Amino acid sequence: MASRKASARIATEALLLRRVEYGESDLVLTLLTLRLGKVSALARGARKSSKRFGSALEPMHTLAVELDERPGAELFTLLEAKLHVPRAAILRSLPAMEAAGKALGWVRRAAPPRTPEPGPYGLLITLLDRLSAAASAEACGVALAEAGLSLLTELGWGIDFERCVRCGRQALPQQSGSVDAARGGLICRSCGGARLRLSADARRRMAAVAAGATELLTPDDAPDALRLVEAALGAHAGIE
Ligand SMILES: [Zn+2]
Repeated sequence: MASRKASARIATEALLLRRVEYGESDLVLTLLTLRLGKVSALARGARKSSKRFGSALEPMHTLAVELDERPGAELFTLLEAKLHVPRAAILRSLPAMEAAGKALGWVRRAAPPRTPEPGPYGLLITLLDRLSAAASAEACGVALAEAGLSLLTELGWGIDFERCVRCGRQALPQQSGSVDAARGGLICRSCGGARLRLSADARRRMAAVAAGATELLTPDDAPDALRLVEAALGAHAGIE
């Protein structure tokens, strides 16, 4: 122990995934940081005085934080938090807030601790920027559904919209298809099919979004895509 550094100070961008009250005046934060991935950090005195961290400890904004890591300690200590990219517009729109809350919850539960995850981090940033500019509940739904499909791909659980996951048969471009997200993708008719049926166009749009494209899904696609995302996260990460 003597040869190890007493502590290490780390500066990074971060998103606040969750805040839980702790003791008289502290908060325990779950942060998705750009440099370290998902970490938990103790914010001392955060509830007592707003001087210390100001209004930075709200979700939706990108924060610039400084963390102290002590060898052997489970929690980081939050030394400083500043608003890096504020997104107050999200807090004024209920559909935007709900969509943001859902996506932050997905990542909080699915991301492994202390593993840098630039993909999920980047797609949350994109989603939060879209939500803060979104003009309607429909636009929020589309942005959330697209983030979800792309998150599955980033986590290695991408849904295959192009071939049957049981027999490997490729769907023709003009073919509709039925999808079982928990099993990973299309299930062709000879393999028994699945309950959720997608038109050929919806299937192609979702395939492109799962591969990283954005602003492609229609408002009608969004509920189906969201159902698929939640079924896949439920199957892989136990998220309901
Ligand atoms: Zn098949």
